[in-house]
Amino acid sequence: MRMRRPTVATRVSDGDPSASRHRGAQRGLTRLLTRDVRGLRRIIIPSRLEATVPDWIAAVRALVDQYGAASSTLASDYYEAERVAARVTGRFTVPLLDAPPDEQVESSLRWATKDLWPRDPEDPATTEAQLQPMSVRLVQAEKKAEAVAQKLVADQGRGTVQEAVRRDRQAVGWARTAALGACAFCKMLVTRRAVYTQESARFQSHDGCHCGAVPVFKGQTFELSDHAREWERLYREFAAPHSGDQLRRFRLALAEHGHLPGL
Ligand SMILES: [Zn+2]
Repeated sequence: MRMRRPTVATRVSDGDPSASRHRGAQRGLTRLLTRDVRGLRRIIIPSRLEATVPDWIAAVRALVDQYGAASSTLASDYYEAERVAARVTGRFTVPLLDAPPDEQVESSLRWATKDLWPRDPEDPATTEAQLQPMSVRLVQAEKKAEAVAQKLVADQGRGTVQEAVRRDRQAVGWARTAALGACAFCKMLVTRRAVYTQESARFQSHDGCHCGAVPVFKGQTFELSDHAREWERLYREFAAPHSGDQLRRFRLALAEHGHLPGL
């Protein structure tokens, strides 16, 4: 007769070392991606925009594909390790996510480069940015492209965890994890304590967002980390009562209590 292993509920938290290690790994990937995107800047020749911008877009798209696959693989390894740690039964293979559609990547990159194109200064549609010298516009376009690429790549990793949770019968949902240096918006989402289940909410991310998704399995209880509980306390005390102004109030409260590094 086999001994039945007692089912001990394990706890999982947004502040688990494995969650922050995974965020760190994804962030490292972002750093390499950014360096590579920057290296492509010279493809754009200002006197030959028509010919060179499409080449540049294709080159950035190739990086997004390559790094997106790496992000998805990292997320898959993380998910599998979390699954083992949760001691759930049965096998499960994490499906790797397909790259975002070419059209999505291209339209984001076209948006990033829109201020490079010359416009009539008399045209009311001319933006402030378009009046800048070309060298400035190039740097700005490249910065935007870095941000666009970072979000597309990081979304691949987060999407991999979400998709695995959706398909894995042993998973009950996912929770958000944010770094101590994350913005007020992301910290607010962490404090909602929600464990998002199955078909529900998509991951709300922004350019430069390094937040992650933590899978929660059957038999596990999710608990907020100490630092997230402190964010929650600040939210309840200083932001929650001010309907319509909550995010701004929360940002102020975080800053005043030393929870918004860099401000
Ligand atoms: Zn974030």
